[in-house]
Amino acid sequence: MLDDTQDDIAVAAARSPVAARFAAIVGSQHVSVDPAKLQLHSEDIWTRGNSRAVAVVAPGSTDELAKVIAQAKLDGLTLAPRGAGASYTSAYLPDGSAAISLDMSRMNQILAIDPTAMTVTVQGGCTWAALNAALKPHGLRTPFWGPMSGLVSTIGGGLSQLNAMFGAARYGTSSESVIGFAIVLGNGEVLRTGAGLPGETPFYRHYGPDLAGLFCGDGGVFGIKAEITLRLMRIPAHEGYSSFAFKTGRDLMLAMAELSRAGVASEMCAFDPGLAQVRMKRASLAEDFGTLRRVVAKETSVFKGLRQAAKIAIAGRDIMAPDDFSLHLITEGRAAAAVDADLAEARRIVAEYQGREIENSIARLIRVTPFPPLNSILGPAGERWAPVHGIASLGKAPAVLADVVAMFADMAPELDAAGVSAGYLFTSLSTNALIIEPVFYWPEERYAIHESLMEKPHLARLPVLPPNPAASETVVEARRRAVAIFAKHGCGFFQIGRSYPYHESRDPASIALLEAIKGVTDPAAMFNPGALGLGGAKN
Ligand SMILES: Cc1cc2nc3c(=O)[nH]c(=O)nc-3n(C[C@H](O)[C@H](O)[C@H](O)COP(=O)(O)OP(=O)(O)OC[C@H]3O[C@@H](n4cnc5c(N)ncnc54)[C@H](O)[C@@H]3O)c2cc1C
Repeated sequence: MLDDTQDDIAVAAARSPVAARFAAIVGSQHVSVDPAKLQLHSEDIWTRGNSRAVAVVAPGSTDELAKVIAQAKLDGLTLAPRGAGASYTSAYLPDGSAAISLDMSRMNQILAIDPTAMTVTVQGGCTWAALNAALKPHGLRTPFWGPMSGLVSTIGGGLSQLNAMFGAARYGTSSESVIGFAIVLGNGEVLRTGAGLPGETPFYRHYGPDLAGLFCGDGGVFGIKAEITLRLMRIPAHEGYSSFAFKTGRDLMLAMAELSRAGVASEMCAFDPGLAQVRMKRASLAEDFGTLRRVVAKETSVFKGLRQAAKIAIAGRDIMAPDDFSLHLITEGRAAAAVDADLAEARRIVAEYQGREIENSIARLIRVTPFPPLNSILGPAGERWAPVHGIASLGKAPAVLADVVAMFADMAPELDAAGVSAGYLFTSLSTNALIIEPVFYWPEERYAIHESLMEKPHLARLPVLPPNPAASETVVEARRRAVAIFAKHGCGFFQIGRSYPYHESRDPASIALLEAIKGVTDPAAMFNPGALGLGGAKN
């Protein structure tokens, strides 16, 4: 007679012999061959993959993960690791004839918080929101502490693609917070990086060559991030907020570059008039009410909180002229005087570039709800949404923006005819880079992934649009031209996946090294074949 586990496996085996072999490792409830789930895991916010995964497999531990990888190798399968699926560069799509979607969502645990050593260790599928919630009672956080998608997006995904946003203006991208990894390689072996005794949590990243660095921004092609140790810092006691309006994108770029050099902000983000208008259309009264409640709760006294909430409610959505670029900046420090000094320096710099200070509501709101629900992945009329970006040097940012703006002007007739609208988001990285991020909205059908990531009541308010391949083709072309401009200026890219040029931008010595590393860590080219231009697509 079969026990429960054997019975489950027998059922799985009847459905799919491949699934049954994985079910024997992770349990049949963690293997799916349901067509709807296979479809969900074979598309991202941007596109549908060339092929469907043959199974979705969710390991729960480093040991299970290693066994799953070893089994996939025996079965001749490729692996598409997936965190929350919140990226949009075809990065985790099954792109081979027989791939399994490696679902990291069960590996979501915080394994250890060590306030003495100032380290935290998480599983690769842990979300940024869960990490911050667990660290807050200790008064701790990581230096870079999350992207805006952090409610669902994972630390393993964020380190495989690199991230911008919280803490990034001061500390740089997500990888700057890394101490060490436990990586499962293509032969099922576990590689651990960092300084410390074997079996102990690494306490320092650097000990000889930076092996952790190999896996930062690797798109998951070198191995699977099973466990991640990050550096901790005390949450700064004081925060300051300022928002500014600029008449031109050039002035905004010049001001953001100088603010970056001065190192005054912990995070900065800016919108062009197009994006600001979309935001205004989207915000609902219910969302405003929830946000105002959180503003009140964040202040040290109810009176201060109510005063802030009232200011925001009065300022409402009418805090800048419709054709302004707006910049929102947050400073933080151990002393209020230090925060005030940073704000004063920011105001001085902004004034040099014809910026004017406006109500700081948006800067405040960004910190009050750092990880909002992912309702912005469809536009306010149910349109599709997709950003594209380039990381520009401070000196080149104004020229890069000017070229991208000129490209949009050139394409305006086609974009208008197809109903495509666009805006820009700008953020900064440490003292030496700006991210320029055009964002597209266009009338096109939504996918299962939109329905899976968005809140149901919000989704229910949006119209369902029919397929519109012509509009999508126009966006593909505009995106291609934007990427070409970024590449021409030598911009870097996060979230490379299968959408940004990486391989072709490297010198022969780098390519030889990258391919040699791939040959050692993933000799059967199982992980995300074709991503980063490595491993070659198999179909
Ligand atoms: C509304 C919204 C807001 C966003 N805001 C930001 C932002 O502020 N800043 C920002 O930088 N990005 C932002 N993004 C982009 C995106 O959310 C990030 O790139 C995020 O890091 C993706 O994480 P994920 O867990 O969803 O990864 P996925 O999309 O699931 O995967 C990303 C890549 O990592 C690989 N991968 C995933 N987990 C592992 C693992 N454990 N080991 C090895 N490889 C792995 C995948 O194969 C894939 O190549 C936003 C996206 C949305 C939809």
